Amino acid sequence: MRHISKLAEPNVLSTNKANWLTEYKADKTNGTKKYRYRHSDIKGQLKDETGFKCIYCESKIGHNTPGDVEHIIPSSKNEDMHFEWENLTIACTECNRRKNAYYEQGEEFLNPYSDNDLEDLIEHFGPIVNWRNGHVRAEITVKILELNKPTRVQLILRKIEKIEDTNTLIERFIAEQNPTLKQIHKLQLEQMTLVDAEFSGMVKSLISQKGIL
Ligand SMILES: [Zn+2]
Repeated sequence: MRHISKLAEPNVLSTNKANWLTEYKADKTNGTKKYRYRHSDIKGQLKDETGFKCIYCESKIGHNTPGDVEHIIPSSKNEDMHFEWENLTIACTECNRRKNAYYEQGEEFLNPYSDNDLEDLIEHFGPIVNWRNGHVRAEITVKILELNKPTRVQLILRKIEKIEDTNTLIERFIAEQNPTLKQIHKLQLEQMTLVDAEFSGMVKSLISQKGIL
């Protein structure tokens, strides 16, 4: 997980959310009224904000890893938050399914927008993530999402591939004699640690363990 910042609320949401909420509450079985937060302006801004990634497992959302708009506080726990910009983000189908309607005040999932120390609370051991010892919310997040369980084998295998790519590049960077190529490898490694890069929390940890960058 990476710390991210909220972008500006799309006009279509700020203009319409009060009416949308009223209409949704009056007719909850109506899919058109329920899913208006999937408007392309809203989803597009959320994808830009999250780097097209699931905020929980850091998979890139796409063909292999479908994802959708996620409610940080589930609508079943607080329906007034159903169209609130601060409550909307992006998660992959696998994380979304495991989180389901979980939300407990004070024991809620780590929040990439508001937990400034988030990146210190999640520890990376190869493709496996763990939580800082004694941090209840971090442990709940990792355990409910099953981020370190064989049930997430596809995720873990993709992370292993990323580790192999990163290690190859680190070895090339260390061994490179040509200063221009060395600089290019360094820039590539830096790009892999950016917030919008896939699994960059893990990659950042791996690169720092090697003592480079
Ligand atoms: Zn995910």
